[in-house]
Amino acid sequence: MMIIKSDSDIRLMRKAGEIAGGALRAAGEAIRPGMSTKELDRVVESYIRSHGARPSFKGYGGFPASACISINNVVIHGIPSDQILLKEGDIVSVDVGAYIGGFHGDTANTFPVGKVSPEAMQLIEVTRASLMEAHKLLKNGVRLGDIGHCIESYVQQYGYSPVKDFVGHGIGRALHEDPNVPNFGRAGHGLRLPKGATVAIEPMINEGTDRVIVSNEDGWTVTTADGKLSAHYEHTFYIDETCGHILTLVD
Ligand code: MG
Repeated sequence: MMIIKSDSDIRLMRKAGEIAGGALRAAGEAIRPGMSTKELDRVVESYIRSHGARPSFKGYGGFPASACISINNVVIHGIPSDQILLKEGDIVSVDVGAYIGGFHGDTANTFPVGKVSPEAMQLIEVTRASLMEAHKLLKNGVRLGDIGHCIESYVQQYGYSPVKDFVGHGIGRALHEDPNVPNFGRAGHGLRLPKGATVAIEPMINEGTDRVIVSNEDGWTVTTADGKLSAHYEHTFYIDETCGHILTLVD
């Protein structure tokens, strides 16, 4: 069941969103070749805690860290490690959640590490742009099929594929609430989001096939089936009468 938020809920969600967004920005500023993904996770965790919040992901379903950090062909849910080092030319997706005042904020970006190939940069830019295209559709009554179709058709122009096995979600007092928000769909179909709905829209876009594999070893790490690159952008949005507001934007 979808949970509609009151104005006072939204004020609290803005706070959670700002902290998540700030932690993500801090991660982006800290990224450099040679850094371990565990070090990057510590940047995220210390930002969140120093702002009085707690990392939403730590312990969620047993996840052992504060951020999901996913390099190159890793789509999502990469586990930070001292053994995994960022290197020049990588692209790294960082997904961050913050919990404060009873609500969560959830946001992700894919960052280039140093200088990356034009192909990698295009994937990052198209993934971000697909989220911004979806943002333009948001308003009272927007249909999930329209959001999904918008993202899918946008990235398909570049030969890319949205991941189908993982999707965006409602968000609020729980990190994952109804409804599921797929990055694919049929225009004019699907549930309508009313004013007061809060959703995390998060295109996970693969350079090649949409097929993904979940690691048998750690049960978390999701990689592209063909080994090609993947990028991930996410914001938490509040649906208002005439538009959607990004709750996880900083600046
Ligand atoms: Mg999410």
